[in-house]
Amino acid sequence: MLILVFVTQSQAIHIAHSLLVDSFPEISHRRIRFLFVEGSQFDFYMATAKTLFGYRIEVESEILQFSEEAFSACLAHEYAHITLDGKSSFPKRLMWFLGWVQEDMEEERQADLLIVQKGLGKSLMAFHRQHDKKYEAFNKKEGLSKKEIRKLLKKKAG
Ligand SMILES: [Zn+2]
Repeated sequence: MLILVFVTQSQAIHIAHSLLVDSFPEISHRRIRFLFVEGSQFDFYMATAKTLFGYRIEVESEILQFSEEAFSACLAHEYAHITLDGKSSFPKRLMWFLGWVQEDMEEERQADLLIVQKGLGKSLMAFHRQHDKKYEAFNKKEGLSKKEIRKLLKKKAG
């Protein structure tokens, strides 16, 4: 049997660290642990849970078969949740001040908006494309749509 794994677990940890330092310095002091899980009972690619001292990101092994870019975007979404965690957290207030997040927006969309503002919109598109090959496209409650991301990317470029 041939198993194609594009991102190994140790590579994943390496990418996760670089992404944290480069794009999410505001949460780089947080304690974030990774747990790799596998199986059909896990109906997510990644999920973030709060722990006593920090956060735990569960990574379902299927996402490791996506491209590195798509993997990064999926992880950026989880990091964005951590940044936005806590209504009055300093990072969130700063993002709000800069107009990067809107107070009345649902959390999933806020997280995606933050990713685009941080310059990772292209990677987010790559993730959507790979995701939509297998599953139904995200609806507007689950995050930004591809159309919205494209619009934001144009706005940023122009
Ligand atoms: Zn989310």
